[in-house]
Amino acid sequence: MEKDFDIIVIGAGVVGLSIAYKLSKKYLVGLIEKNKRYGLETSSRNSEVIHSGIHYPTGSLKAKLCVQGNELLYEFLKENNILYKKTGKLTVAVEENEVKEIERLYKQGIENGVPDIRIIEKNEIKSFVPEIEGICALYTGSTGILNVHYLMDCLYEKFINNGGIAGLDEKVINIERKNGLYLIETEKGKYYSEVVINSAGLYAEEISSKLGFNYNIYWAKGDYFTISKKVNIPILIYPVPMQEGLGIHLTPRFDGILRAGPDVEYVQKVYPPYPNEKENSIFKPDENKKNFFYQQIKKFIHNIEIDDLVPESYGIRPKLQKKGENFKDFIIKEEIPGFINLIGIDSPGLTSCLAIAKYVENLLI
Ligand SMILES: Cc1cc2nc3c(=O)[nH]c(=O)nc-3n(C[C@H](O)[C@H](O)[C@H](O)COP(=O)(O)OP(=O)(O)OC[C@H]3O[C@@H](n4cnc5c(N)ncnc54)[C@H](O)[C@@H]3O)c2cc1C
Repeated sequence: MEKDFDIIVIGAGVVGLSIAYKLSKKYLVGLIEKNKRYGLETSSRNSEVIHSGIHYPTGSLKAKLCVQGNELLYEFLKENNILYKKTGKLTVAVEENEVKEIERLYKQGIENGVPDIRIIEKNEIKSFVPEIEGICALYTGSTGILNVHYLMDCLYEKFINNGGIAGLDEKVINIERKNGLYLIETEKGKYYSEVVINSAGLYAEEISSKLGFNYNIYWAKGDYFTISKKVNIPILIYPVPMQEGLGIHLTPRFDGILRAGPDVEYVQKVYPPYPNEKENSIFKPDENKKNFFYQQIKKFIHNIEIDDLVPESYGIRPKLQKKGENFKDFIIKEEIPGFINLIGIDSPGLTSCLAIAKYVENLLI
């Protein structure tokens, strides 16, 4: 049996695109995506924040790949003229009992190798943003924002230029091991490949189970509101993290508008997760959360009103941890020779995308 590809990557989100681009420099790679375009799911529905790596336990894949990915991503964005801004970030303690957590995050950041990080006092917070009220804050200079759509356009173009072959609008329905190769069956055809990489985001567990590797992924929705009032905040503002997620934070968009969110709400798995905006769907941002968002934001900025909040969008994280459970790391591993699984690629998956691609390439050597 002849192979059609050296490698098939399933899923063209920012992670699948990064892997496909990286591997297409050396191998004949097929990239299969069920939607009509790449990057229509979680990868285009996130905060577009380039994280520094302070939040993840030292030694975890998330910590390593985030810190490494942060550096690789800035290099790539600069080299390819893609819109980004190294804004920096303040994680602000507003209550005395949060100061300890700021100190813990600082220490963890240092241990994770995060550059340009320090604790600042009330006065210096004011020098960054006069409107922000806080006792002290953790400043990380390597945090920033990017335009993820331009990043994905660039990765896709480079992949195609390297001779990569994309099958869009082509859902993978089965995989089996046959004659020492993998037979990947889609709604449109059948392909033999030596290696198969599962980067299917919210559906990675479905793909994985076809080869007998079972995982449980939980879907955690995050809603966003924008703030219609003009408030000049040029830096990212985060609260001290709550148990799930990083808390409702403020991100300046490139158009100057402030975005607030996301929260964390575990939801039922409903297909499709990202329906057309016009459809009446439970996955729309939930207007009833307005007051909750307002209360969170008011801790930092006192001069906004509830009616300044406008529902914007949402994204869904593929999480390995159940509601209430503690930290779970990315799973990126070769389950059996030639089958690489990426499971639970929630945040900081975007920041880590290029480092994940490098990590996957090393698994193949
Ligand atoms: C609300 C929110 C905020 C976030 N904020 C940040 C942030 O600021 N910074 C950061 O670093 N990370 C952030 N993340 C995480 C980041 O968005 C993800 O880690 C990243 O987008 C994952 O990319 P992916 O390619 O793995 O998944 P996806 O983008 O979900 O791509 C998977 C692809 O696989 C395809 N697929 C699935 N099943 C099949 C099949 N059977 N056949 C063919 N194709 C299939 C899907 O259609 C999809 O296009 C956030 C996530 C959310 C939800």
